[in-house]
Amino acid sequence: MKSAYKPYFYVALTLFALPVVFLLAKQPPAPDTHGIAVNNMDKSVSPGDDFFDYANGGFLKRTEIPPDRPAVGVFSQLSDISNKRTADLIQEMAKSKAAPGSNAQQIADLYNSYLDEAAIEARGLAPLKPHLDAINGIKDKKDLSHALGETLRADVDALNNTNFHTSNLFGLWTAPGFADSDHYTAYLMQGGLELPDREYYMADTPHMKEVRDAYQKHIAEMFKLAGIADGEARAARIVELEHSIAQNHWSLADNNDIHKANNTWKKADFAAKAPGLDWAEYLNAAGLDKQEQFTVWQPSAITAEAALVGSVPLDTWKDWLTYHLIEDHAGVLPKALADESFNFFGKTLSGTPQQRPRWQRGVFVVNQFLGDAVGKVYADRYFSPQAKAQAQAMVQNLIIAFRKRIDALTWMAASTKSEAKEKLNTLYVGIGYPEHWHDYSGFEVKRDDLFGNIWRGRLFEYHRQLKRLGGAVDRKEWSMSPQTVNAVNLPLQNALNFPAAILQPPFYDPKAPAAVNYGAIGAVIGHEISHTFDSEGAAFDSKGRVRNWWTDADLAHFNASTGQLAAQYDSYKPFPDVSLNGKQTLAENIADLAGIAAAYDGYRASLGGKPGPVQDGFTSDQQFFIAFGQDWGSKTRDASLRRQVLTDSHSPGRYRALTVRNIDPWYTAFNVKPGEKLYLEPKDRVRIW
Ligand SMILES: [Zn+2]
Repeated sequence: MKSAYKPYFYVALTLFALPVVFLLAKQPPAPDTHGIAVNNMDKSVSPGDDFFDYANGGFLKRTEIPPDRPAVGVFSQLSDISNKRTADLIQEMAKSKAAPGSNAQQIADLYNSYLDEAAIEARGLAPLKPHLDAINGIKDKKDLSHALGETLRADVDALNNTNFHTSNLFGLWTAPGFADSDHYTAYLMQGGLELPDREYYMADTPHMKEVRDAYQKHIAEMFKLAGIADGEARAARIVELEHSIAQNHWSLADNNDIHKANNTWKKADFAAKAPGLDWAEYLNAAGLDKQEQFTVWQPSAITAEAALVGSVPLDTWKDWLTYHLIEDHAGVLPKALADESFNFFGKTLSGTPQQRPRWQRGVFVVNQFLGDAVGKVYADRYFSPQAKAQAQAMVQNLIIAFRKRIDALTWMAASTKSEAKEKLNTLYVGIGYPEHWHDYSGFEVKRDDLFGNIWRGRLFEYHRQLKRLGGAVDRKEWSMSPQTVNAVNLPLQNALNFPAAILQPPFYDPKAPAAVNYGAIGAVIGHEISHTFDSEGAAFDSKGRVRNWWTDADLAHFNASTGQLAAQYDSYKPFPDVSLNGKQTLAENIADLAGIAAAYDGYRASLGGKPGPVQDGFTSDQQFFIAFGQDWGSKTRDASLRRQVLTDSHSPGRYRALTVRNIDPWYTAFNVKPGEKLYLEPKDRVRIW
């Protein structure tokens, strides 16, 4: 939710986490061919030397990254279509005279209040005033603990739309419990940083030192623009405090290890386990005084942050609260502040020279706060029952392929196989759109109060999540809106979501050869199913409970094979001074590998033993692998790519395309020989599923 105003956000069991990609001025033409995009290829490149460039080189050569974006890709072109449709729907509603309190009124007024820059300028800094007064009124650490409690929001998500970042002291995630997946529990997570990750504070490279210097200057500038004196001194103290917080933060690789995160603290434990913060005040102010038990994701970080509340001077914390208040609302404050925030977070951190047009950002805000209200109309208009039925059939074929692969594994114990298959039996696969929609009644949206709309929107979501605590889990609840071009696995619900917006060309085209559909969307579906069994999924049983359902021998084999895969990705270097982190991206790389393997099986099965048709001079198997390689066709600015390598659980697209090196039929399809750059000896090809 917070990320609505930052040009970045984080997404790990999802298919990808590209920075927000949005709305070209002109909608790309509908494809008039049905199959792989031959004009996107570079046939002068040998597929065995660089499969990514072979599949995407033509696209890369003729495509420039638009000035208002950190990246562009085959993927983002599909997002453009979805976002243009969404924008049209919102604009229709914005023009309608909708009944007060209706979804259409909320959408229209939120959008129009966002566009009304004259009103925003006229209000100036007035919307901040009551909040700044409250911070100024903090007299002691008890008041401070209360104020920090009031900032807690439901803005983190450890396992679904994976987001470990909140700039508030801590973040709350409401989700099924690790031990009791039938009821929602409260997960408390580390926070407190404005920069995307601890590495930005800790890394000792010239690039990161430059970023930190620019950050400190940016903070000082924000104080100046807000009319607050001594900005430079305040900025220095804030950076020092955030550095101390970052020192104790967990890395992304540790955050992804749910066994490390499985820590139950009773309400009464907090004072003893994490002294420094007045927890009674904090939880009371956060509305959590009745919550008896929490899962504390990063205990040592929570303890360290609480200690800093006790040890760091009160005035430094008040400066930190003030800066975070301003930064987290910069997008809905006067232009000078919004521009300065973009200068740092957009230009310096992402290398994106220009901000998106305001109306496009307005659409994004509406999607963030009223996603289901828009999504309901989107799904009605753009996702036919026929498309839904066809996609469901494809999912079933992939599930059959996985079942066969599990049966055929020689290393897995019979008891483990049986639970793995039970997970497939109970898997809920959501296609297109959810069965129930979020109810936004109670979210008050006013045409003339943008700042208030955002404030109330975040609180509305927080209260919605608080109300669920202790209640029965709805396994069919979605965590993505239908208009999102992405897909997600929800491990605690043993469920998958494939939104309507990804189930269209180039990912899925009923008129394209089966090889192409299985290579493109089939590998995506296989990717998500595989998360059910990957390094995280292996920790959740068929009911979504955290339970070790593997034998020790299974686990030993799994760890050895996945270690080999991690080493393969560790060897990729996007920059001379930066390598991929094979451990941080392991779950996603396993999912890519298992996904393409199962999709290949599904594709071969769909041919019923006959050879597939040759098209554009490519064999059916070649089309399958090229379609997969083209899923990842993208071009990213250097600053943005560096950030992705540090903060994302997904490997950059170029390396995802190289998954094919581990698949035997790829060698046959392209006659790849020893000596070519991507060639792996059969013993070095990683086989997990
Ligand atoms: Zn994934």
